[in-house]
Order: sequence, then C-alpha cells, then structure tokens
Amino acid sequence: MSGEKCFFILNKIFEPKNKQGLENIKGYTIKYGNIIDNGEIVDEVLVSYFKAPKSYTTENMCEINSHGGNIIVRRILEICLKNGAQLAEPGEFTKRAFLNGRIDLLQAESVIDVIHAKSEKEAKTSIKQLKGTLSKEIAEIKQYILDIMVSIEVAIDYPEYDVDDVTNEQIVTMLETVEEKLLKLEKSFDNGKMIKEGIKTAIIGRPNAGKSSLLNAILKEDRAIVTEYEGTTRDTIEEFVTINGIPLKLIDTAGIREAKDEVEKIGIAKSREIAKESDLVIAIIDSTKELTSEDKEILEIIKDRKSIIILNKIDLEPVLQEKDIRLQESSKHIIKISALNDIGIEKLYQEITNLFNLNEINFDNEMIITNIRHKNLITKAIENVKKTKSTIEEKMPLDIIAVFIKDILEDLGNITGEIVSEDIINEIFSKFCLGK
Ligand code: GDP
Repeated sequence: MSGEKCFFILNKIFEPKNKQGLENIKGYTIKYGNIIDNGEIVDEVLVSYFKAPKSYTTENMCEINSHGGNIIVRRILEICLKNGAQLAEPGEFTKRAFLNGRIDLLQAESVIDVIHAKSEKEAKTSIKQLKGTLSKEIAEIKQYILDIMVSIEVAIDYPEYDVDDVTNEQIVTMLETVEEKLLKLEKSFDNGKMIKEGIKTAIIGRPNAGKSSLLNAILKEDRAIVTEYEGTTRDTIEEFVTINGIPLKLIDTAGIREAKDEVEKIGIAKSREIAKESDLVIAIIDSTKELTSEDKEILEIIKDRKSIIILNKIDLEPVLQEKDIRLQESSKHIIKISALNDIGIEKLYQEITNLFNLNEINFDNEMIITNIRHKNLITKAIENVKKTKSTIEEKMPLDIIAVFIKDILEDLGNITGEIVSEDIINEIFSKFCLGK
C-alpha cells in the first residue's frame, strides 16, 4: 500500500507481535505480527515499513509478506480494501514515483524494460537507464541549449547591446555540438533495438541439409534461455534465445520443424521470403552431397545479406569442400559443423558476435537508446536542430531562431516527461503489470 492513509489502514488490520505503536516504528524496518480481521487471525506476516519521502513512491508505504497462496493473499487484499484501500492500477506505484518527481518518465519506462528484459544485456542497459544515466545525458544537452538561450533572450530583450553576431556564432557552435550528441544517441538505437528485440535470424537450406538439427542444437544449449512467441505472420513461431548473451530471435521455427513432411518442405520462394525479413541468415549446406542447384539458389539469396554459411555433417565423409562453395560465394564466412553432434556450434556463436560487433558494444560506458519513443523524439530533435541551422543561414531574426530552439527543448523535454501529455503518460503506464 502506498499513500497518506496507508499506515492508518495498516493499523486497523495488523498487530505487531511486540505491540509496538506506529509512531515508534522507523522506516526501512520489518515487523513480525498477525493480520487480524474481526478479531480472527488471518495469517502470520512480515510487514515492511517505508516512511515518506524515503519510499518507492515517496509516499508512506508498507508491504505485507504473507505465507502466499491464492486464498490468503486474496483475503488480505480484500481486508485492505474493506478498510479503505483502493486497488492499484497497472503501474500505479511507478506512476506515483514519476508524478511525485522521484524519477522521470524515461526512468519509469525503464522499469518496464527491466521487468520484461529477455537477455542479460537488455537488463543491464535498462538498469542503467533506471539509474538515470540517459536522463543525465539529455539534461546536459538541454542545459547546454539553455545556456545559449539566455544570451538569445538578452539579445531579444535588450537589442541596444548589439550582440547578434557573437550570438549567431555561438548558436551555430551550440547547435553543432547538440546535433553531434543527438546523432550519437540516435545511432545507438541500432544496438538498442538489437538488444531489445534480438537479432532476427533465419535458418535456410535445402531439405535434409540439417536445419532442424541445427535449430535443436541451438535450443538445447544449457545456457540458452528460450521463449516461444507467436510470429508476426500467421502460423509461424518465433523463438527467442540468448546464448553467450547474444539475443537471437529465430524466425519461423515452426516452419522448420513441420518441414519433416516431404510435401511441406520449405521451398526456395519461402526461404527468400524469410531471408528478406531477417537481420541474419544462416544458410546450411550438406557437406556429404555435391552442391545442387537448390544450394546455389540458397547462396544466391544470401548474397547481399548479413549471413553465415554452414557446412554441415562434418562427422561424415565429405564430398563437398569449402573451396567448392567459394566458387559460388567468395566473401562469406564458412563454418564447418556437425549439428547432430554439437560440433562447431561455438564457432557459429563467435561468428555472430563478430558479425554484429557485439563485443565492441560497451554496455558499461556507452549510452544506448532502447525505447522507440525516445528514438523518435531524438530524431525529431535532430530535425529541429537542422531547421534552426537553416533559419540562421537564411539570416532570420533572432526571435524566430529562438522559436525553433524552443522546439528542440520541447522534444528533449518530452523524453524525460517534463512536458508530456496525460494521454502519453497513461499509455506508458498501462503497459505495466499490476503491483509495479
Ligand atoms: P532439414 O530437413 O534441413 O531440417 O534437415 P534435418 O535436420 O531434419 O536433417 C536431415 C537428416 O540429416 C536427419 O536424418 C539428421 O539426423 C541428419 N543430420 C543432420 N545434421 C547432421 C550431422 O551433423 N551429422 C550427421 N551424421 N547427420 C546429420
């Protein structure tokens, strides 16, 4: 419970074992006792106390830890409601933390990301945002603009000082620095998106090349965290796997599995379609057979795509050599594996890591944008920086330039939520789960 009446309600339903009065209980303490309803003991519980302003919401807060189980938890909830509490909306605790000014909107949004994180790297990035590193960066950029805005306002209000020329130069320098910083943030979204959504990966190859064996080898990895998703297209299943911290979204995994049936085999057209919507294509070729026309078509499909060629079944007598593939495709990396015997899979992960420069992303020091709302606002701010620059080039009066600069400030303010509309706030918090 959070809010003005929370201790008042707690007092009516909770009896600490040592009968200590509320006024003597400090914040950040846990008390042992009973939840009482009409004189009846409902459960033995532990209650944590947080006194305003030192709590998640900055309000008085308490948390009741019961023995758990549906019946008791429900009963305690009902007792709280009966005594004057209101059921929280999804995300209401975090929303209050935001509305009470303890965290900004960007940090509140990162709470959802921490909860929903599918990989360690995503969680790490979200925690960093929650701690406010990105907010600080945005605040610094804003401050930089505001410092110049002060001079502009002076120049507008006191034209007799004739500081125009100096200010124009200053403005351009400021805009260029701001643009550079914003472009860097905008670019970080490439990595941010990859961390959040995973690298969309397709495995293609002709029938019996070993697609489903490779899929199984990847999925059965001890360290793989697997989540099944309904795919974006009908009847497809996407699986999210994290291996060595690499988030992969394997697309059309159902298609690969169902292709067991001869009639259902994934054709070249379908492979082309899947390859088109992926960030990475793994083309698998059977090393115990001569290169077929179908293999050649597969190699053709991956030509202009980020892709890796796999020569499978190396545990058997080889018919096909790396150099035979090189005749068709000279530049791609070729990895030899045995999907059935788990040989060479590590090399595949290494190759993916290299291909996407995953080792080069510095999760500790780099600022990474993972949220599309933030990304869009940064893009908008960059456009407004450009517009401002052209108003200066067109020798517009200072008060016009000032209007454009204010637009940049507004875009940045929208990210951290200083001037954001209620609709957007509601939409953001509706994505939270109850109790967060
Ligand atoms: P798909 O049609 O491309 O999905 O191919 P599968 O994964 O179903 O493999 C076709 C056949 O090749 C199956 O009998 C597999 O057991 C076999 N196979 C797949 N990978 C290997 C491998 O690395 N070594 C050997 N010896 N057999 C393999």
